[in-house]
Amino acid sequence: MSKTTRFKTVVIEVKNLNKVYDLQGTSLAVLKNLSFHVKQATWLSVTGPSGSGKSTLLSLMAGLDSPSSGEITVLGENLSKLSEDARADFRAQNMGFVFQSFRLLPSLSALENVQVPMEILRRGKSEAAAAEMLARVGLKERMHHYPNQLSGGEQQRVALARAFVSRPKILFADEPTGNLDSKNGARVLELLESLHREEGATLIVVTHEPQVAERAREQLYLRDGERVST
Ligand code: ADP
Repeated sequence: MSKTTRFKTVVIEVKNLNKVYDLQGTSLAVLKNLSFHVKQATWLSVTGPSGSGKSTLLSLMAGLDSPSSGEITVLGENLSKLSEDARADFRAQNMGFVFQSFRLLPSLSALENVQVPMEILRRGKSEAAAAEMLARVGLKERMHHYPNQLSGGEQQRVALARAFVSRPKILFADEPTGNLDSKNGARVLELLESLHREEGATLIVVTHEPQVAERAREQLYLRDGERVST
């Protein structure tokens, strides 16, 4: 381990994490006693077969859901100790999200979609910041277009611009290339990689695609909710 790696700050710490869903009297253990940490500016991929608990783990790390037991500490905050409102605020301040299904607002232009996080945070100059991010993802000429006027690959690039515009410390991506053909998928991955590197954001990517997972510096492989060493 290099000196710089050793002294990097821990951004996410997961300790003895369990998640159990109750389904009409039967309980389903989805995550079983997981412990790991993620250091600043790392790219971690979370891989494993469908149903292994990847999306559940992402929701818990983002504070969108609560663990059955165990602790998740993000940027020094124990998520379970924050109220729901405080968690939402913490998310807006520190996290960005990219989803398989893009999740752009259809009635807003690309530019307006990218402005949304800046407006929520009441940061000034949101239009200039959004336009700059759209230029960085190669969509300068398309910023006044609406999602239904853009291809899937272009929509995902708008989603990347939206995720990075507020300069989040942690970026979560759930199957970011899952809806794209291989050419567009490769372009989105390259952009994700360069934005992650340039912005220094910690990147957590959930994927079942080995070629996406391989690009990460660290890998967490799940099977039936347990960590498997590879
Ligand atoms: P993956 O992302 O690896 O495909 P998920 O985290 O989505 O896995 O799901 C893990 C398991 O938990 C699956 O068996 C799924 O059906 C179950 N599951 C996920 N969310 C819920 C929920 N809200 N209620 C009950 N079961 C759930």
